[in-house]
Amino acid sequence: MRAGRYDVIVVGARVAGAATAMLLARQGLRVLVVDRVSFPSDTISSHQLQVPGVALLQRWGLLGKLAAAGTPPTRRVRFDAGAGLVLDGQFPACAGVDALYSPRRTLLDTILVEAARAAGAEVRENFRVTQLMASGGRVTGIRGSARGRPAVADTAGLVIGADGKRSLVASAVGARRYHERPVRSFASYSYWAGVPASAGELYQRPGRAVAVFPTNDGLTMVYAAAPMTEFAAARADLEGHYLRTLDLCGDLGERVRSGARAERLRTTPDQPNTFRCSHGPGWALAGDAGVVMDSVSAQGMTNALRDASYLSAAVVAGLGGSRPLADALHDHQRRRDRAIRGMYDFTLGLAAFPPATPGQRHFLAAVAADQQETDRFLGAFAGIIPPERYFSRGTVLRILGTRGIRKLTTAGVLSSARLLPQPGMPGWLPGGDR
Ligand SMILES: Cc1cc2nc3c(=O)[nH]c(=O)nc-3n(C[C@H](O)[C@H](O)[C@H](O)COP(=O)(O)OP(=O)(O)OC[C@H]3O[C@@H](n4cnc5c(N)ncnc54)[C@H](O)[C@@H]3O)c2cc1C
Repeated sequence: MRAGRYDVIVVGARVAGAATAMLLARQGLRVLVVDRVSFPSDTISSHQLQVPGVALLQRWGLLGKLAAAGTPPTRRVRFDAGAGLVLDGQFPACAGVDALYSPRRTLLDTILVEAARAAGAEVRENFRVTQLMASGGRVTGIRGSARGRPAVADTAGLVIGADGKRSLVASAVGARRYHERPVRSFASYSYWAGVPASAGELYQRPGRAVAVFPTNDGLTMVYAAAPMTEFAAARADLEGHYLRTLDLCGDLGERVRSGARAERLRTTPDQPNTFRCSHGPGWALAGDAGVVMDSVSAQGMTNALRDASYLSAAVVAGLGGSRPLADALHDHQRRRDRAIRGMYDFTLGLAAFPPATPGQRHFLAAVAADQQETDRFLGAFAGIIPPERYFSRGTVLRILGTRGIRKLTTAGVLSSARLLPQPGMPGWLPGGDR
């Protein structure tokens, strides 16, 4: 393996890295993308790709490959808030796409890596980066090695860390963290055969969130999240904890037990919540390396693909000379943060597992009674409609009406003074309950 000189080196070749490398190579840049694993490769992640993420794959000409590999689309979702409150609807369309897909990471990441290669990027698998090279305070390249081979150094105008939540690139450059919050939940998931799921299923229970989505090979992915405070106790019997959670969700536990578990249960408490400064001299971050959040809202891959899209546009402008690279990267960070902050807060709220209050249940019941509103609600939950826009005073007024709000306020269920979401409120609906 010979050391080389590139316009851009991308460390990490999954959703963020392979997509960024592909987009940059498509613009004619000389790109090297490396990963310590070889593809197909699985990773600890369930994999609902939300409609906006699917729309990006469509725009890049890759959705057909996902579908051709037998990945089932999910259009209908059943959101069960407990105590008989069920919202059954369809996702609103985004850029002409109206389905969520839940592709195995062995498939999705490989499709992206192949697309990067096809676009002309050099893809180096089984190659671990061990350090960054720098000169005069500027990152100039990477040093690393393929398994059992001597170390090599490669240089580039820009090194992009798309190397995940434990990013070596972010640590090496000391990328500043902000909006950081403690780990809120741990998650367990597995794959089941013989558990048909024609629709996606979401369950909210006190202290629990559950998601059920069909994936490749006729399997169903069943995910459960619980508060981090329970992790130490749950550790003794993670499988029992998982199955008991499914038993809280109508007949789900029974349906799952009537099928066969096709793979081992995966559990992780490694769910940090933080933003990192996304760029500096000679470096930038993409995907989880730049912003990572609890998996309960299933947004990480969509964020990573959006980040790849925004970052690659900034890099092309900066390296192409149409504007200074530092300015383009600075604007990228602002754009990234604007796109993600509302969902980040919403996700932290979900991961606090607040029990639905009486006012919220009234609101949900009114939503459930109206198909269009149900679809909109599901759209906000999935990030198709920005949650900060949806969960607003305007929405409450539209759904409950002034008379409805007055009635609930008189009955003592709602306090109109607190209809807006409170800053830092650990909830997913407009506050306002007594
Ligand atoms: C339990 C769980 C469930 C989740 N469920 C969902 C979901 O349903 N939907 C969703 O959208 N998101 C989900 N996520 C989040 C999602 O997995 C991540 O947001 C996504 O994988 C981020 O992609 P990435 O490319 O930024 O990083 P990663 O997928 O972490 O990829 C980083 C890559 O960098 C490589 N790398 C790291 N260090 C080096 C090095 N030194 N040298 C070479 N290579 C290196 C790694 O091998 C890896 O391949 C979930 C996460 C968890 C933990």
